[in-house]
Formats: sequence, C-alpha cells, structure tokens
Amino acid sequence: MPANFKAELVAVLGQPVAENPTGLMQEAAFQALGLNWRYLTIEVAPANLADAIRGVRAFGMQGINLTIPHKVAVMQHLDRIAPDAAIIGAVNTVRRAGSELIGENTDGKGFLRGVRADAGVDPHGKRVVVLGAGGAARAIVTELALAGAAEVLVVNRSAERGQRMAADLAAKTNAPIRFEPWLGTYAVPGNTELLVNATSIGLYPDVDAAPPVEFSAAHAGMLVCDVVFNPPETRLLAMARRCGLPTLDGLSMLVYQGVIGFELWTGRKPPEAVMKQALRKALGVSGE
Ligand code: NDP
Repeated sequence: MPANFKAELVAVLGQPVAENPTGLMQEAAFQALGLNWRYLTIEVAPANLADAIRGVRAFGMQGINLTIPHKVAVMQHLDRIAPDAAIIGAVNTVRRAGSELIGENTDGKGFLRGVRADAGVDPHGKRVVVLGAGGAARAIVTELALAGAAEVLVVNRSAERGQRMAADLAAKTNAPIRFEPWLGTYAVPGNTELLVNATSIGLYPDVDAAPPVEFSAAHAGMLVCDVVFNPPETRLLAMARRCGLPTLDGLSMLVYQGVIGFELWTGRKPPEAVMKQALRKALGVSGE
C-alpha cells in the first residue's frame, strides 16, 4: 500500500471558541477507529467568516461545526441547506458532498437521539412542554415536530418571542405547536410526557438558579430533560428526581450532536461510548 500521510480535516469555527470541548470528543473517536483525521478548534471573527469558508473549500476540509456567532451568518456561504436546518434557520454542522458544502443542524437531532438512546423514550406521539424560545429551543421544537410529537407547548418568558417562534414553526412543520406565556411559577400540565428546559437558566456560573416550574400535577413517568450541560447536574434535574421523575442531562444532547456530525463526515459508525467518556473527562465529570 502506498504511504498516505495526508490527514482529513474538520474544525469548529467560533468566537469565543477556546472553551468548546467538542474537539476532544471527536479526536478520541478518530483515534479509536484509527482514522487519520484532525479536529481543529479555530477562533474566527465575524468579519473573517467568508474567508474562513473559502479556506474550508481550499483545504478540502471534510466538514465544520459552527458555534456563536456564526450559526446564522454561515448559511449564505454554503451551497445547500438541509430542509430541517432551513426551518430552524441556523446551521451548526457543515458536511461536504463532492465539491458542495451542505448546512445541517444536529442540535435538535442530537437531543432526540439522546432521548431515544439514553432515556429509552420515543418522542413520536408524545405531549411535550419546551421551556424557552432561543436557538436551542427552536432546533428542539423543530425536530420534535418533524418526529411526530402529538403536541409541543412552548413556554417562554418573553411572550412576543415565544409566540412568534411557535407560530412560525407550526406553519413550517404543519405540527400542533402552541404557546403559553410564562407567568410566575409554571405548573407543568398533568398530561405532559416530556419536559425540556431549553433556557439557559442554571448555566454556570448561575448554578443555583432553576426554572420556576412545579411538578405537583405531573404524571409519574414524565421525562425531565435539561439542555444545560455545564454543570450537567442542574437544580432542575435534582428537583425532578426528588419528585421521583426520570431525567436526562444536557451532556446527552451534546454527545449525540457530535455523534451525528461524526457520521455525516466520516460515514462510519461512531464509537459512542468513547465519545461520551472523552466529553465527561473534558468537562471534569466523574463516572457514568
Ligand atoms: P438563547 O440566548 O438563544 O435563548 C435563551 C432562552 O432562555 C430564551 O428563551 C430566554 O427567554 C430564556 N431565559 C434565559 N434566562 C431566563 C430567565 N432568567 N428566566 C426565563 N427565561 C430565561 O440561548 P440558546 O438557545 O442558544 O441556549 C440555551 C441553553 O442551551 C444554553 O445553556 C446553552 O448552553 C444550551 N445548549 C446546549 C446544547 C447541548 O448540546 N446540550 C446545545 C446548544 C445550546 P427570553 O426569550 O424571555 O429572553
């Protein structure tokens, strides 16, 4: 076999980006499969994004992740946008197909894969409450709608933003998405089967904060999910467990969006356990 010292390249572009742990997870996966691939963590200012994407093309890179502030701005520089990413209106992953760069969004898909794989729950036909109407909520509500959730109820502090998002996604997905304003403490309706905190409440350093919700009417099997992964053990999840409810932390979504990216780029089956362990280690989380 002729020698091949050429590495395949993928990267995350963002600003700030230094604390993004995705590279450790992807590099661990490449090593586990013996792939000569590299994942670079690159700081790119907004003014340099167009040049950076030209660089992605010039280097023949296999794909990229985008993080703050590039998830929307990158779309104009790509050749095609996947249908769900177009509905979401943001791209967090780019894959190459021949000479084309295709925009994908794996945030909501990663969330759903985690719900299925880690919590053993299929969102199809479920009644879901999503707290929040920002970027993470939009990706999750879109994928829940496309996966056939029976109803998605969006609850958000800013009524105007929540109302707009729910109406827009209901029109684009043809799914039953409704909005309720978040007034005081929100009593989660008794028929809810899945509750998702897609706000940033509880995110480091504000770790003592919890979304103002109460579970007195909740039914025993309701799965409580948090998108906040730093820290993975949020006050919301601790509160839910004290009420005897099953929970899923934000690391699950983070791992599975990376797992899906790995699949899109390499076409190989990702070593999920290796990726999970690398991420937990990178974030200083002990055990499983
Ligand atoms: P945005 O800034 O786009 O949205 C933030 C949302 O949180 C809004 O709905 C906002 O409500 C709500 N919110 C914030 N503070 C409060 C508060 N004190 N009370 C009530 N509502 C509040 O953020 P993102 O959607 O991008 O990110 C949200 C979280 O998701 C972050 O913690 C992020 O780290 C996490 N995330 C996790 C991922 C994972 O893989 N696990 C992937 C992506 C994000 P309002 O509209 O009223 O301002």
